[in-house]
Amino acid sequence: MANERTFSIIKPDATRRNLTGKINAVFEGAGLRIVAQKRIWMSREMAKTFYAVHAERPFYNDLVDFMCSGPVVVQVLEGENAVAKNRELMGATNPANAAEGTIRKLFAESIEANSVHGSDSPENAAIEIAYFFAGCEIVG
Ligand code: ATP
Ligand code: MG
Repeated sequence: MANERTFSIIKPDATRRNLTGKINAVFEGAGLRIVAQKRIWMSREMAKTFYAVHAERPFYNDLVDFMCSGPVVVQVLEGENAVAKNRELMGATNPANAAEGTIRKLFAESIEANSVHGSDSPENAAIEIAYFFAGCEIVG
């Protein structure tokens, strides 16, 4: 698989516990490069738009509240097979089911406060990257 980009968020539970560096060390240690990065506080509208795909799910309102409960770090990761590699490094959505050594197993607090987001396909990665970053902010 050619060089690829994916979108990553370090969620409020992780920034609150000062885990940005520890989480990014996992990405960098696995060969992913951080080619864009910024710390932002999402508005409710941004969080609602970002997770709109889950709008009908019972956890949606709580998820939106959580995502704007503190700062997040939004970033673009680049590397071979970056979308799948990031998902593998993150581990299962529910930390109780996450494999040993994954970010969610190491750091997540709960199925909601699970420390990281990662795009689930190259198509969604392109959409999510364009939502948060201008082309000139991504420096490979
Ligand atoms: P993400 O999209 O954040 O990378 P994911 O793809 O592993 O995570 P999704 O099914 O897309 O999981 O869910 C999006 C987010 O919604 C999860 O990361 C988690 O924060 C929250 N979430 C998912 N399922 C539940 C649930 N049953 N209860 C509470 N929150 C949930
Ligand atoms: Mg998802």
